[in-house]
Amino acid sequence: MKNPKLKDARPASKAGNGSARTKRGTPRRRSLYSADEVREIFRRFSVQRPEPKGELEHVNAFTLLVAVALSAQATDAGVNKATRALFAVADTPEKMLALGEERLGDYIRTIGLWRNKAKNVIALSEALIRDHGGEVPDNLDFLVKLPGVGRKTANVVLNMAFGHHTMAVDTHILRIGNRIGLAPGKTPDQVEQILVKIIPDEFMRHAHHWLILHGRYVCKARKPDCWRCVIADICKSPEKSTDVPAPLVPHDDIDPIEVAQAEAAST
Ligand code: SF4
Repeated sequence: MKNPKLKDARPASKAGNGSARTKRGTPRRRSLYSADEVREIFRRFSVQRPEPKGELEHVNAFTLLVAVALSAQATDAGVNKATRALFAVADTPEKMLALGEERLGDYIRTIGLWRNKAKNVIALSEALIRDHGGEVPDNLDFLVKLPGVGRKTANVVLNMAFGHHTMAVDTHILRIGNRIGLAPGKTPDQVEQILVKIIPDEFMRHAHHWLILHGRYVCKARKPDCWRCVIADICKSPEKSTDVPAPLVPHDDIDPIEVAQAEAAST
């Protein structure tokens, strides 16, 4: 059943439909949703979680950068467990360098790929001191040049530490973009490009958190919990099991056990 308030108007991305092709015959990827539908999806997310928070603990831009770099192929809960003690002794590049690779390794050896990550954290601390006066740069090109920092990590830092309207596409956002046709794309970059284009500016500040939380708790990897989904009436996924949206109420009561279960199920 469709939401009667939403017009199937001009699609949100302005170029053809999902099966359209470019002159060279390659598929032209675009959202299946109209601009009105995209706006309504994010309006509902904004009512549900007015101030979404990332779940990686940090105390400043540097510790955020380190936490995100450590979180590759690891759960947020696992990273937080290790970084609480680490950031108590090393919350700046200078202190991290003074700690050294070996002692840093002792703090993070419960995190996957810790040896390589320890090397990168020390190298990026050196680079921050050498090239940026010990500060985390507010610039994508500089961030992605730091050891162990990819585009996703840089976008998270730019969004959370500096308030930029970036979209860091993780496994949840890649899945949702494709599953519901919001931003179909084979790669995180393709999904990022569509999302940045279709999401209204007013929602970009929190959009990546909303999508991650939606993917983690509702539109889950193995089987989506459509019965608890506030956009079930708008969703165009062939996998959805209901057209009836869940009640639109603020939802900030995240159970830590549910967090751990959801993370374990999605990694
Ligand atoms: S209705 Fe189901 S498939 Fe669609 S977004 Fe909601 S949880 Fe995901």
